[in-house]
Amino acid sequence: MNQVAELANRLIEAPSVTPATGLVFDVMEAMLAPLGFAVHRFQRGSGEVGTDEEAVENLFAIRNGPAGSRHFAFAGHLDVVPPGEGWTSAPFAPEVRGELLYGRGAVDMKGAIAAMVAAAEHVPQDAGTVSFIITGDEEGHAKHGTRALIDFMRDNDIQPDLCLVGEPTSVHRLGDMMKIGRRGSTIIWLEVEGTEGHVAYPHLADNPIPRMVKILAELDALVLDEGTDWFQASNLEILDMEVGNPASNVIPHRARARVSIRFNDCHTGESLGEKVREIAERHGGTTKQVIYGEPFLTPPGEFSQIIAAAVKAETGLDPEPSTSGGTSDARFLRAVCPVIEFGLCNATMHKRDEAVALEDLDALSRIYTAIAKAALAAE
Ligand SMILES: [Zn+2]
Repeated sequence: MNQVAELANRLIEAPSVTPATGLVFDVMEAMLAPLGFAVHRFQRGSGEVGTDEEAVENLFAIRNGPAGSRHFAFAGHLDVVPPGEGWTSAPFAPEVRGELLYGRGAVDMKGAIAAMVAAAEHVPQDAGTVSFIITGDEEGHAKHGTRALIDFMRDNDIQPDLCLVGEPTSVHRLGDMMKIGRRGSTIIWLEVEGTEGHVAYPHLADNPIPRMVKILAELDALVLDEGTDWFQASNLEILDMEVGNPASNVIPHRARARVSIRFNDCHTGESLGEKVREIAERHGGTTKQVIYGEPFLTPPGEFSQIIAAAVKAETGLDPEPSTSGGTSDARFLRAVCPVIEFGLCNATMHKRDEAVALEDLDALSRIYTAIAKAALAAE
């Protein structure tokens, strides 16, 4: 087993179903401390199990370069999604079969974190400041995770110049894709109140369903935008409509519906909430909204070029700069500095028999080393 696989092995052996605390962070600290990193760990959340207040651990580690040097940050998460059933080998007993290392988190994203640690070892301290922004709550509520780490950095006047998130962004081969942005995500609940009554006496009732149907028809017909150079068009999907009326002679008193919008940087969560609210109110409806993430974009430029050059040198591939897929913690880190995501092949993430190619771990570590060195050397 190569050095990076060995590190990944140690991380996978520490079970860390989201939200993660304790052991896996002990392992991470034991890797970073000998490399000269000052490791800060803290827990957040009141501890109530099964709620978004369940305890979460976060780790910020920093190795300072010479005064005035640039600061490059690696970011990621040590929590994993539950393993589920049907694994060939135990999900938290990593096993090498053929050229692959199997275990929960092998690609999402303990393998990448192992590659970061090995990379940090190969970046000389006088090249600049290197840090690790590592949470135990990315796959869960993400309430006390990376956002708490950002607060920690702000409170301590720590400001990276560039940040690389190691999510598994590659599709078919290591190096074929990086994520320079992500769409935003919001859910909006709709409700129309009517007046219930007997179907034979409709003049004494007010059926909310036709009004809800009009609202949903208008929402479904919306063209939010045509897409941009870097983003596909924003999309609204109707997820649910329910009235819950089992009777054959009753006009119901309420209709509810729920829509999801995945949106690009032509919008904000708030501007979309306003748009939907205006349509709903025109038909006597009301709305409630939760914004899960705003879109972000690090436009192609210096940072994406640094990554592309490092990927090309190792793999011969030109990584496609993409904004596809779901949300990630980059949605929070974007507030700190330019952020791009690059990591392993995502084919087996969140699946049983999650596995990473041993040679990809080594290659990823060399790519991360080259990115960190170039990022620290940049103007
Ligand atoms: Zn992940």
